[in-house]
Amino acid sequence: MTTPIPYLDLAAQLRPLRKEIDAVIAKTLDNCSYCLGPDVAQFEKDFARFCGTQHAVGFNSGTSALHIALRILDIGPGDEVITTPQTFVATSWAISYVGARPVYVDIDDQTCCIDPKRVEQAITPRTKALMPVHLYGHPCDMDPLLAICKKHNIPLIEDAAQAHGAKYHGKIAGTFGLMAGFSFYPGKNLGACGEGGALVMNDPAQAARARSLREHGSTVRYYHDEVGYNYRMEGIQGGVLGIKLKHLDAWTQGRRRVAHRYHELIADTPLQLPIEAAGAESCYHLYVVRHPRRDDLKKYLEANKVGCALHYPVPLHLQKCYASLGYKQGDFPVAEKAARECLSLPIFPELTDAQIIRVSEVIHDFFKQ
Ligand SMILES: *Cc1c(COP(=O)(O)O)cnc(C)c1O
Repeated sequence: MTTPIPYLDLAAQLRPLRKEIDAVIAKTLDNCSYCLGPDVAQFEKDFARFCGTQHAVGFNSGTSALHIALRILDIGPGDEVITTPQTFVATSWAISYVGARPVYVDIDDQTCCIDPKRVEQAITPRTKALMPVHLYGHPCDMDPLLAICKKHNIPLIEDAAQAHGAKYHGKIAGTFGLMAGFSFYPGKNLGACGEGGALVMNDPAQAARARSLREHGSTVRYYHDEVGYNYRMEGIQGGVLGIKLKHLDAWTQGRRRVAHRYHELIADTPLQLPIEAAGAESCYHLYVVRHPRRDDLKKYLEANKVGCALHYPVPLHLQKCYASLGYKQGDFPVAEKAARECLSLPIFPELTDAQIIRVSEVIHDFFKQ
C-alpha cells in the first residue's frame, strides 16, 4: 500500500501557521473589522512593498481586481482587449464584464504564454489594452510586448494571478504594465483562507479610483460618484495574507526546488517539460508537462494514487460561453495542442523528496508498459 500523493495539500501549509492565523482571526472578530479595516490596509502596504509598486488595492477576488483595472481605463462596449486563449477563464471575464471583446492571440509552445510575435497583427483601431497572463507562474516575454504597446500607445495590464514573485530579467512580475491583478484564491502561491485579490499600480489617481470602485463608487459614505461594486477584501483575509506573505519567498524557493527535482528525475521520459525562458524565473504555480497520451497518463497516475490536474483542457475560444465571438477549432493551433497535451503534476512547497521520487517512478512505469 503506497500512501496517496495529493495534487495539492493546503493543510500542510496551514499546520505550522495555525496558531498565528487563529490569533489574527480572533483579533478581527473582537475588533469587528470584517470588511477592509486595519489588517487589509497593512497587507496592502506590505504587498505593494513586496511587488515594488507604489500602491496595492485589496479586492474580494482576482477576477474583481482585473475587472476594475479595465474599468479604470474606461474600456467598454465596442472596444477590444488582446489576450491569450490558454488561461483560466477569469482573464476573459474582466474583458466581458466591461462589455468589451476579448481578442485572442496564440501562445508560445514552450512557455504557453502569449506569443509576442503574433500580437501586432491582432491590433485594430478598437484595441484598448493588452492583457497577457504569466501562465503557470512563468513570466511572459515582456520586452517585445512592452515595445508593441509603446509603439501603438496601448496600455498593458498584467494578469499576475499565478505569478506572485516570478521574475523577468530580475524584475518582479506585476511591475511591467500600467496595473497588474493578483489572486489570493486558496490554491494560488499566496492564498487566503477564502477569496481575495489585489490590483497593484504606481499611479495614485488610479489607486484612488480602484478604492472607490471596489466600495460602491464612493469615497464619502452614501455619496456615489460613479456606478461601483461591492468588491471589498474581508478583514480576516487581510490578516491571514499578512501572515502568509512573510513566507512567500521561502515557499517560492520550495516550489522551485520541486520543479528542479522533477527536471532531474523525468528528463529522460518522452514528456515535454516546462522550461524557463532566457531571463525568466518562474514561481512554478503549476508544473505542467505535456504528452499526446495525456489522458492515459492521467488515468495511470490516478490509478497509482498520484494526484494531477488539467490546466486547461479547453481553450477559451472554444468555450460555449464565447461561441458568439465566432472563433472555431483550428484558429489557435498551439493553444489547442497545449490544451490536449497538458497535465499538471503535484507541486507545493511542502512536497517531500520521497513524494517527488514516487511521482517520477509512476511516470517511468507508465512509459515502460
Ligand atoms: C485564479 C486566476 C484568476 C482569478 O482569480 P480569482 O481570485 O479566482 O477570482 C484570474 N486569472 C488567472 C490566470 C487565474 O489563475
